[in-house]
Amino acid sequence: MPTDQPSDLLAWLFPALLAFLCAHVTLECRARLAESLRSADADRWQWLAGAALAFGSGVWSLHINGLMTLPLAFNVHYQTLLLLAAWLLGVALAAAGIWASVAVRVPALAWGLGALLLTLALVGAESLALRAAASEPALAWPLADLATVAGAVGVIALLALALGSWRPAQPGLHTAARLAASLLLAAGLWRGGAQLLNALPLELLAASGSQQGLALSSLGLLARLGTLILLLMTLVVARREAILRASLVQARGDVERESLTDPLTRLPNRQAFELRLKDLGLASERDGSGLALMFIDLDGFKPINESFGHQSGDWLLNTVGQRLSTAAQPGEFVARWGADQFLLLLPGVRAREPLAARARTLLKTIAQPMEVLGRELPVQASVGVAIFPDDGAAALMVSHADAATHAAKAAGGGTFCFFEPHMLHDSREQMELLRDLRRAIEDQELELYFQPKIHAPSGQITGAEALIRWNHPSKGLISPGAFIPVAERFGLIGAIGDWVIDRACRQVHEWREGGLRMRVAINLSVHQLRQDDLAERIGAALQRYEVNPTLLTCEITESVAMENNASSKAFFDKLEQVGVHISIDDFGTGYSSLSYLRQLPAEELKIDAAFVKDLEFSNDARTVVDAVVKLGQALGLKVVAEGVETDIQRDILRQLGCNELQGFLFAKPMAANRLFLWAMSDDGPAHIDFRQSLFGDTQIPDDLDGPVPAR
Ligand code: C2E
Ligand code: MG
Ligand code: MG
Repeated sequence: MPTDQPSDLLAWLFPALLAFLCAHVTLECRARLAESLRSADADRWQWLAGAALAFGSGVWSLHINGLMTLPLAFNVHYQTLLLLAAWLLGVALAAAGIWASVAVRVPALAWGLGALLLTLALVGAESLALRAAASEPALAWPLADLATVAGAVGVIALLALALGSWRPAQPGLHTAARLAASLLLAAGLWRGGAQLLNALPLELLAASGSQQGLALSSLGLLARLGTLILLLMTLVVARREAILRASLVQARGDVERESLTDPLTRLPNRQAFELRLKDLGLASERDGSGLALMFIDLDGFKPINESFGHQSGDWLLNTVGQRLSTAAQPGEFVARWGADQFLLLLPGVRAREPLAARARTLLKTIAQPMEVLGRELPVQASVGVAIFPDDGAAALMVSHADAATHAAKAAGGGTFCFFEPHMLHDSREQMELLRDLRRAIEDQELELYFQPKIHAPSGQITGAEALIRWNHPSKGLISPGAFIPVAERFGLIGAIGDWVIDRACRQVHEWREGGLRMRVAINLSVHQLRQDDLAERIGAALQRYEVNPTLLTCEITESVAMENNASSKAFFDKLEQVGVHISIDDFGTGYSSLSYLRQLPAEELKIDAAFVKDLEFSNDARTVVDAVVKLGQALGLKVVAEGVETDIQRDILRQLGCNELQGFLFAKPMAANRLFLWAMSDDGPAHIDFRQSLFGDTQIPDDLDGPVPAR
């Protein structure tokens, strides 16, 4: 008998293609369903319907196609309603199976239940379709055949569902797994369906076949073509949706990553840190291990940014970020909190000693020399440490560590502090202070007080030190110790410093107008010294009020004055050119280099009050003061002692050869007009006279850039 090749091929290829499409579309829609369940999207029902329709229709169509390819000598007729019911049964059972395979929590149970229901969908739809094709007596498969086929299809469906649920990280492997799952299920449906048809007692079908209803021959085209189109369309939709979703997931991932990264340093940002802190806090709570947080705040970053430019500032922040990342040990987490603030989370640490050691190394790491535009940048940080759970809830760690950083800054910076509860109160107060300080200059709440300096041998007033005060509207008079560090920390010192220079010069001018020729000393902050044009500003103020530069002294604390670098040297040279005097304040607290001290164009050393205080009882203090006086004399510097409170201190200081004295014993700092009245009426806090030379006129030299006036 000649074989009809094309029709054989079609008989083989078509059901294979149909089975593959049916399996593939079902599993694709199932994958989309699983995704929409995970992301709680509303399109889950659409994907469930797609999967169920694909499976039910595919199985149904496979059955009809199978029957059509059988060598039947008669035309099978279907009862339309029953045939529709077979399709519906397939779709419904497939829906239940697909849903169970993704919604049941235990994977093995989900796949088992899914595979069982899908097998039932296949067998049930086939059986009902067969029933639709035959009238009397009812046709049925031999039970053994049915059980074998159902068993095999069930196992294959289980494997296909498991494989289709696998989501390996590599995209290639994922595609391969999905394809393998589709092929497996397709093979199961194709071979299972074919085996069921082969097991049919065809002679019974012929004998009992009804001649009424829908003829198989006319149904064929609809079943084959319709199902194929349905499957292809669903496949296209499912694939497009998958591509869309993948790019959406990618975009969402990118946005999320970016939103958690600091754009400048590429370190995790504040938000990322908060997420990590939450996780690590919970973990630490569970296992009882500690969690430490270091809040790292750069000292004096703002002046660097201002004087070196923002690009250099950015570069510095970046370098510090890199140094911290390199210093972080495995498991630790570094983030940038804001401007010049960084955070380091250390899980599993609770003891203070290792943390202290770590903070010390960190400070050293940060403070390694950094060069910008050929100049060495001073980098230094203050570190605050908070420990969970000892210092309170994990959510409060940042504010606690921040408060500890403030304490470290208040201690002079370049150091670390562990959190203590009282610091919280301090830092809140500081914030309020800062808020008020911002408008204090405009609202004219700042005032200069003046404390007389006494010529030690004669006991006469020779000049005064200007000391800033803040008349706070509700808190009253605030001393500089409470707000100057805040002003320095938050970049207000430049404006305040300028105000002091201006007021001091104006005061000298006003006193002179009144007949009092008073020398005044002002205090300069380290942050002011970083302004390149500070000397020019001072010169301009002197000129503005026509004040002789020799009447102004700039007090600079020892540690700052001794910063032996090019910029401070240039500043001192410029000050010298302007003609003002330089005094080294709080002398004895820093580490002066004798050779550098010799080079400094200073006129005065002010012995720190701490030595004066101990003078009566401590031989060491006396030795220090003695040495400073001798040093001053050797270098041709005037020596001033500050903080003199008792007659005994005064006598010792006189005996040791101090040139000038300053302290509450003689007079407390006072308002300018009080000092003036005292000078003019000789009615002061103590029986002290003003030097006669203080009365009379002074004149500004014609040329400020000219030679330094004689002193
Ligand atoms: P300083 O320059 O060493 O000033 C001396 C401080 O000792 C002043 O405190 C003064 O009131 C105080 N004092 C004077 N005699 C005695 C005494 O007999 N006993 C005691 N216990 N204290 C005495 P004040 O006015 O609170 O200033 C503290 C510091 O604030 C100053 O130390 C100075 O470093 C800084 N400061 C004051 N005014 C300014 C300013 O205008 N600008 C800047 N940048 N800093 C300022
Ligand atoms: Mg001073
Ligand atoms: Mg001092």
